[in-house]
Amino acid sequence: MTDSSSRTLVLRGGSVVDVEAGVARRGDVLVVDGRIERVAEEVPVPDGAREIDASGRYVVPGLIDSHVHVTAGSADLGAMAEDSPYYVAARTSAILRGMLRRGFTTVRDCGGADFGLAAAVEDGLWEGPRVFFGGKALSPTGGHADLRGPGRTVLDDHTCCPSIGHVCDGVDSVRRAARNQLRTGAHHVKLMLSGGVASPTDRIDSLQFSADEVAAVVEEATNAGRYATGHAYTAAAVNRGLQLGVRCIEHGNLIDDSSVALFVEKDAFLVPTLVTYEFLRSEGAAAGLPKASQDKVGIVLDAGLEALERAWKGGVKIAFGTDLLGSMHRHQSEEFRIRAQVQPPAEILRSATLVGAELLGRSGELGTVTEGAVADLLVVDGDPLTDAGVLARPDRNLRTVITAGRVAVGG
Ligand SMILES: [Zn+2]
Repeated sequence: MTDSSSRTLVLRGGSVVDVEAGVARRGDVLVVDGRIERVAEEVPVPDGAREIDASGRYVVPGLIDSHVHVTAGSADLGAMAEDSPYYVAARTSAILRGMLRRGFTTVRDCGGADFGLAAAVEDGLWEGPRVFFGGKALSPTGGHADLRGPGRTVLDDHTCCPSIGHVCDGVDSVRRAARNQLRTGAHHVKLMLSGGVASPTDRIDSLQFSADEVAAVVEEATNAGRYATGHAYTAAAVNRGLQLGVRCIEHGNLIDDSSVALFVEKDAFLVPTLVTYEFLRSEGAAAGLPKASQDKVGIVLDAGLEALERAWKGGVKIAFGTDLLGSMHRHQSEEFRIRAQVQPPAEILRSATLVGAELLGRSGELGTVTEGAVADLLVVDGDPLTDAGVLARPDRNLRTVITAGRVAVGG
């Protein structure tokens, strides 16, 4: 930990947002040794404490983005696998810094980030949100993380190659791959349950991995006290994953009411990532997205909002995700604007705080301004409970970012 994490800090006179209740109350927040020690109408300022005047502003929990790829410095993920790992790391540090400056104090990486990268942030070598990682995402041959074109047979899966996924086939090999991610400290194991946009040879509506292979990943993750999360678009892929014990579904753009019922029955999570499709359509080509992938964007783009509305009305636990690649990372906060078309702002904020924390197994510690929680705090202009535009435009509205009690941005 850095020395500044031991500092005492008081946020004075802001409107403190209680995300769970959906209300803001005027008061002070006392931070000691990286944790929130007191939230009260008035807190006496201890000697030597730093004071931040938050009057007229809102104090919000640090945001959680539950679907990112912090190593994806380009939308051409296949080419990235041949980059120097040092170059990828350098780009990653810039991507992480950008996320923190948009108010994201925790991110959940869904393919690419590893234990060393999470440690670089934890040790203070890099400025960024804390990273919950799954290592490489598991994919069958020809699946969503098999980024070879149809004419290429060679597959270099050396762990040092900065690819986002690992190709494996058959129960034994899939099991070994899951164990290998878990042995590095992975917080979850990501697997591909259907085709995707960024992969050159699969169809969006394909089913990926056999039921036995999926069950093996779920078993290994569960045995390790972790969980399996699955990339899936269609109802068929989502439902099969949920029935086999996958705890969280990434994207889910093409779900139907039977999927919604299964999410609720299994108490599973959904992480929509709508912003990525919007910008893959408008900026994907310029960001390096290959032609075969550009053609697939339209299939999932239009259905995404409808799926979000369906899931929300059906009572599904919905986390906040973005899934941006390359130069499109700068649009991360626009997910707030897009979701506001079907959800109230307070609900979106819950997704980006409380639900994200629950998915990470850190309820009460992250995503909340309550006593005992980690002091990840934002000071913003405007009420994010009633206006989604507040968090959608951090360049205008975000004044201060505090991560584990340390002022990282502003002051
Ligand atoms: Zn993704």
